Amino acid sequence: MPTVAVIGGGVSGLTAARELRHRLGPEARIIVLEAYDRLGGKLKTVDFADGPVDMGAEAFLTRRTGLAELVHGLGLGGDLRVPSGLRSCFYVDGRLVPAPRRTVMGIPARGADVADVVGADAAAAVDAEATAEPLPWTPGDDVNVGGLVRSRYGREIVEKLVSPMLGGVYSSSADALGLRATVPALAETFDDLAGRGEAVRLSDAVSHLLALREDAARAATDRGEAPTPVFNSFARGYRELVRALAEDADADIRLNTQVESVSRWRGRFWLEPVGEVDAVVVATPAPTASVLLGTVAPGAAELLSTVQLASSAVVGMRFDTDNGLPETTGVLLGTDFATRATVHAKAFTFSSRKWPHLAGRGGAFVRASFGTLADSSMVEADDRTLIGYAVEDLRTVSGFTASPVETFVQRWWGGLPCLGENHLDHMDRVRADLDGVSGIALAGAVMRGVGVPACADSGRDAARKIVADLSGS
Ligand SMILES: Cc1cc2nc3c(=O)[nH]c(=O)nc-3n(C[C@H](O)[C@H](O)[C@H](O)COP(=O)(O)OP(=O)(O)OC[C@H]3O[C@@H](n4cnc5c(N)ncnc54)[C@H](O)[C@@H]3O)c2cc1C
Repeated sequence: MPTVAVIGGGVSGLTAARELRHRLGPEARIIVLEAYDRLGGKLKTVDFADGPVDMGAEAFLTRRTGLAELVHGLGLGGDLRVPSGLRSCFYVDGRLVPAPRRTVMGIPARGADVADVVGADAAAAVDAEATAEPLPWTPGDDVNVGGLVRSRYGREIVEKLVSPMLGGVYSSSADALGLRATVPALAETFDDLAGRGEAVRLSDAVSHLLALREDAARAATDRGEAPTPVFNSFARGYRELVRALAEDADADIRLNTQVESVSRWRGRFWLEPVGEVDAVVVATPAPTASVLLGTVAPGAAELLSTVQLASSAVVGMRFDTDNGLPETTGVLLGTDFATRATVHAKAFTFSSRKWPHLAGRGGAFVRASFGTLADSSMVEADDRTLIGYAVEDLRTVSGFTASPVETFVQRWWGGLPCLGENHLDHMDRVRADLDGVSGIALAGAVMRGVGVPACADSGRDAARKIVADLSGS
């Protein structure tokens, strides 16, 4: 039976290991090699005095169904929790404004839908786009999101809406992110319009997507279905998923084992410092994957070396009261100068308002997030400084004046890949290059998207490739 090494014990690597076990059977030797002293990577649950809270990923989108199936398959369906249904807010000119409902990642179709956040002039610029020259677009094109929205609607929509929304997910500004990788439905709508020879306008494309969303919601209501929550989380944190995946993979897990290199060796692979194996899944962040694939798949390695990583820091704060904490799931902060001059954080999650199971513990729990691709100075600040900023900024934006009774600072160096313009195209080329190398596969946030469901999908894809390679099919 083959020996397969999985390099990286995050959700991508662990899902790959589990899939390999299910497909190769109990006799196969599966080794998970993890550089740190714990599994999970960006999934990290920390024990506070009143219970566990996630300090990396804290939820997952239910739209992609693969992870939910995996979770149920692992027997964790009963551990899933749904959010409260409250809305998030934007912090605008010193006040909290509920996040507009009718946008696609902060991009509106009509000025009136976002006037509360951006003001009347910026809202009028949105409406003016409907009669502007169409966007030059050839199906398959890609652009950066910030550049696109600024050129059609103006600067304020980007700074006050789109960058805060995308920054909350990717830790990068809209200007660093590619449309096709981060708002794929919009790129596809542009493709459709251009393919039919119709004028391509941002407001028309967003209107079309909003109409689809609203039609789907109406149809579900007509069928008498309760609305599906957009997010799920785990009652006791992502730790449960990590533990269940590792158990089900039944792998030889080696912590504190940093793989230095992967090379060919007598028709197999040699991993330094581990030894000989038949096949390898690389499930590390892109720069490390680039180094590890350098000799066995140089084309893929070169493309992966161009992927930048954004660092961030999360400050978890537990309070013994929630009196005065606004009734919102959290606050997104603009990237405009006025906001940056008064606050250091980029976002707050009011975890105990967002998740009823956390509210049930009493008091309040808030996560403050700092740092972007363009500016990691906040991530470099010491713990005391970060906690100070978190408390001060929370007071500024929400008026909540309680002092935390417990805090935890988590830095995520290189936490998220920046999926820039043409990223998906590059990843198709990476995949094509690796298809030509039998016994090597790549998984991770760089492949199909940064969300946990996309990472799990990438792990499964990688395992399937290895199984096909090993069976010579
Ligand atoms: C602050 C933050 C919040 C997030 N929130 C969400 C969220 O709410 N919902 C969501 O869906 N997604 C969220 N994400 C994204 C998601 O958590 C990650 O994209 C995902 O967990 C990445 O998983 P991975 O296994 O691909 O990589 P990682 O988790 O980075 O795992 C890779 C592993 O490889 C190991 N490794 C690296 N080099 C080597 C080597 N040479 N040898 C051996 N091991 C090595 C690392 O130590 C690490 O454990 C968030 C990310 C961050 C940073």
